[in-house]
Amino acid sequence: MKNKKIIIKNVEDYNKFIKKIKRYRFYRFTFFKCDCNKVFKDISPIIEALNIKKRKNRIEYIYDYCCSYLDNYCENKNFCEFKNNKCLNQYDNNLENGCCRGCRYQSNKGCTTSNLSCKLFYCSKVKEKHNLLTYNDLKILKLLGFRNRIIVKHDYFINRERFLKDLYMESIILYSIKTIFRFRYIKTKNN
Ligand code: SF4
Ligand code: SF4
Repeated sequence: MKNKKIIIKNVEDYNKFIKKIKRYRFYRFTFFKCDCNKVFKDISPIIEALNIKKRKNRIEYIYDYCCSYLDNYCENKNFCEFKNNKCLNQYDNNLENGCCRGCRYQSNKGCTTSNLSCKLFYCSKVKEKHNLLTYNDLKILKLLGFRNRIIVKHDYFINRERFLKDLYMESIILYSIKTIFRFRYIKTKNN
């Protein structure tokens, strides 16, 4: 195994490194070390992910890191302004539980699983009102392949384990077929 030292002292170094991530993800026999300014907090998990050489383990690490990063950012913020189980789009109608209504993983205490696409999703009303983290803020996602980056943006209404399976398979065709059935199921539940 070769060693490669990444030195990040300023924004310019940071941007250069981020541009190279997609290439570095193929370095199977390189151990990355980092001498990094502590300001760039997302570098350390990226280096850690690069040093996980087993594909499945790396995907799982990236997935769990992103979920917990988003959870920490959203903690106690109530961006969707939930009151009595109704989000800000449901105050004037008889619907409840925001976007999660119809999903088999909803509960009175919120989501019972950890779905990365759901954690990244907000409707336009919320986007207009708040400064939200988006897909582009999670630079570590550049370590995923092109198809998996598409899947991460749209794989709603499933639990963590099934989401990870979709990422392991990395098949857009299978993912699309499953998504059609899933949205049909949600539509039926909401009617
Ligand atoms: S994203 Fe919008 S529609 Fe979905 S729960 Fe939040 S406020 Fe409601
Ligand atoms: S999986 Fe998504 S839609 Fe289902 S309960 Fe969790 S956050 Fe809501």
